[in-house]
Amino acid sequence: MSIPIPKSISPSSISQFQSCPLAFRFAYIERLPQDPSPAASKGTLVHRALELLMQREATERTVEAALADLVLARAQLADDPDFTGLDLTDEEWTAFHADAEVLVRRYFDLEDPTTIEPIGLELKLEATVGRATVRGIIDRLERDAAGRLVVSDYKTGRAPHPNYQSQRLAGVNLYALMVAEHYGELPARVQLLHLQEPVAIVAETSEQQARGVGRKTEAVWDAIGTACQRGEFRPKASKLCDWCSFRAYCPEFGGDPQTALDLVARDD
Ligand code: SF4
Repeated sequence: MSIPIPKSISPSSISQFQSCPLAFRFAYIERLPQDPSPAASKGTLVHRALELLMQREATERTVEAALADLVLARAQLADDPDFTGLDLTDEEWTAFHADAEVLVRRYFDLEDPTTIEPIGLELKLEATVGRATVRGIIDRLERDAAGRLVVSDYKTGRAPHPNYQSQRLAGVNLYALMVAEHYGELPARVQLLHLQEPVAIVAETSEQQARGVGRKTEAVWDAIGTACQRGEFRPKASKLCDWCSFRAYCPEFGGDPQTALDLVARDD
């Protein structure tokens, strides 16, 4: 049974397909709802606060302003299902917001925001990469002091071990290629700003490396197309299963994927 091929992919859907094809099908083809998680919602809150900070005049980007932006972000997101759907006690909410504040404060240990010249915040891009159509939202695109483009991505989860850093840069490297396709200029640098530690993982780009990113993206696009034609999305168990919303439908945990697909069919 063939399955319709998605119109586009994104760095996060690519990562999901590579880590577990079945979870990819549930999330990006069948679009099954996923439970909100405190970690992801905290990331959303901190990203919004830093976006608001960057919307200020450069000289106004102080720690106090960032904390005020965090309060504003909290109010803006109060009715969002990713927050209303969290089942937290009062103590857990207090810890949640205290952690968010720590992350915002630690951002200032990574860079001086008054020196940043953003040219795009939460920038939605669509680009054609070889045979693939890729969409994504870039946290921040800016020009450095030398006038070169830089792609920055805030991270609220733990920084990877140095052995896994290049793997974690795959998403921002693809963003750099999308910027090149869209604006005709390859960013000079990509960076992951890990707020917990805090640590910045920075990498220079090159035309050769961008071509490699393009080839890998096409390979994933083709693999997704083949999986759709064959109707074959296998589960791939890993430690990520601990956070997976689809365990109840997963054969690795005694579930039946068809029960999820029946749910989707009933909703149509
Ligand atoms: S529980 Fe694990 S193997 Fe099953 S769908 Fe989720 S990530 Fe894949």
